[in-house]
Amino acid sequence: MLSTMQDDPLSLAQLLRYAADVHGDSTVTTWTGSDSRHQTFAELGERCARLANGLTALGVGPFDRVATFMWNNNEHMEVYCTVPAMGAVLHALNIRLFPEQLVFIAAHAEDKVVIVDGSLVTTFGELLPQLTTVRHVVVVNGDIAALPPAPGVTFHDYEQLLATQPDSFDFPVIDERSAAAMCYTSGTTGDPKGVVYSHRSLYLHALHVTTPAALGLRTGDLCLAIVPMFHVNAWSLPYAALLSGASLLMPDRFLQAEPLLAMMAAERPTYAAAVPTVWTSLLARLSTHPQDISHLREVVVGGSAAPPSLMKAFEDLHQVHVVHGWGMTETSSVGTVAHPPPGVTGDDAWPYRLSQGRFAPLVSFRLKDDESLVPSDGISLGELQVRGPWITGSYYSPDGQDPDDSHFDGGWLRTGDVGRVTPDGFLTLVDRAKDVIKSGGEWISSVEMENDVMGHPAVAEAAVFGVPDDKWDERPCVAVVLRTGATADATTLRAHLAGTWARWALPERWSFVAEVPKTSVGKFDKKELRRAYAGGELD
Ligand code: ADP
Repeated sequence: MLSTMQDDPLSLAQLLRYAADVHGDSTVTTWTGSDSRHQTFAELGERCARLANGLTALGVGPFDRVATFMWNNNEHMEVYCTVPAMGAVLHALNIRLFPEQLVFIAAHAEDKVVIVDGSLVTTFGELLPQLTTVRHVVVVNGDIAALPPAPGVTFHDYEQLLATQPDSFDFPVIDERSAAAMCYTSGTTGDPKGVVYSHRSLYLHALHVTTPAALGLRTGDLCLAIVPMFHVNAWSLPYAALLSGASLLMPDRFLQAEPLLAMMAAERPTYAAAVPTVWTSLLARLSTHPQDISHLREVVVGGSAAPPSLMKAFEDLHQVHVVHGWGMTETSSVGTVAHPPPGVTGDDAWPYRLSQGRFAPLVSFRLKDDESLVPSDGISLGELQVRGPWITGSYYSPDGQDPDDSHFDGGWLRTGDVGRVTPDGFLTLVDRAKDVIKSGGEWISSVEMENDVMGHPAVAEAAVFGVPDDKWDERPCVAVVLRTGATADATTLRAHLAGTWARWALPERWSFVAEVPKTSVGKFDKKELRRAYAGGELD
């Protein structure tokens, strides 16, 4: 028997319409480096209609890929809303990838149009001759003349494209299962792989993000999206803002601690999202340039494990509540969020808050060790596998036939993350399978060890990675960045670890560096650290 409910598809066009009509006074604000420019959701709706007309005039039709090469800003938000709503596919290119990766990804995705920030025109111009599928380049607030000539490619100015167009557009009704956006993994542990999100998956995930069990974004919030829009759709914050009526604050290209804090002082966001390395840099800056940031009612940290010392410092020194979450490109970002159970507060809450968190209602999970399932007893370790309506069931390939199914197991996504789950659904990740250090048959969690090193007051950042060893197969090596003005040597830090680690696990290799190399999305780049170690570039 079928239900009597109406079969209205979940669509980003409906979401855009809703936000413009119902939350028309909410805003998108972009920092310019010294002040900010604002746009209401009502204006956003109008400009999206103009953009949809403009892109249609360029020949953009159903499922054509429209890529962006942009920072987080108003115009990026316009493209984010318009492209899926008109039935095309949004593809936010990660501007920090190596040129050869970008060329590969743009060809693989068959990007037809690329919308480029004016400040990135030179970088993009160097790629353009190799982007063989691209037919149109639209430059936002920049100089078209700075682009090199490219046969078969037409250049446009974004504002001119919008200026001549009507401010209404008849957005089509779209099958909710059809492609709306695509993202490539940032390649931390391998080649970038493409994931295609549907209207349904983006809508459901954004809806989840607005719930108190997740990020609880709500009307009245000013949400600072530091996480880039080219990294897993900025963890769905743009669409969650449309749903909830939360206003958005976009940092544009001003992503260093100093301008971020200047922007925060001026705009006083109530919510913010970023990877741990960004929070670490903000904390370091705040220690030398104190500033009240208690306007942040809550912030979320994810993308890699949040060091306990980091979370506690924000709470103790700055009265900012930090929430930890886990997710992947393949899981549309947020899969777990670490809110303690009701009534658990203070120190009792930390074990829950430091875990990766509780699974979202639509994320089914299991742990597997080789071929056997592992119980969720809070002790047994296994590889985390997940499934659900916002989890990818395959990787994108242009012919729909991805030959590599090694990342899937009978309909479950193999995350490559190793961890344990408590009977009440709290996940604790021990490591990425590829980063666990196997020393003499025993496992060392690189994440747990680096968290402990970062717990030493002299340490600003520490990354632990496995290096080959004749006797033990692999041993941990620690790359350490000391706090400005602090001193500590390997003996001191080893002694600090000896409080919690068995003697056999204590690292003998320590390297004091000015900076830990980061991936394009700000995670510790362990591939690069291993390469540097092998090349004798670390002490
Ligand atoms: P990439 O795989 O290229 O880094 P993703 O951003 O999709 O791109 O990375 C997802 C991975 O990041 C997860 O599989 C996990 O290993 C790691 N990760 C994300 N959030 C957390 C977290 N809170 N704690 C530990 N690891 C995390």
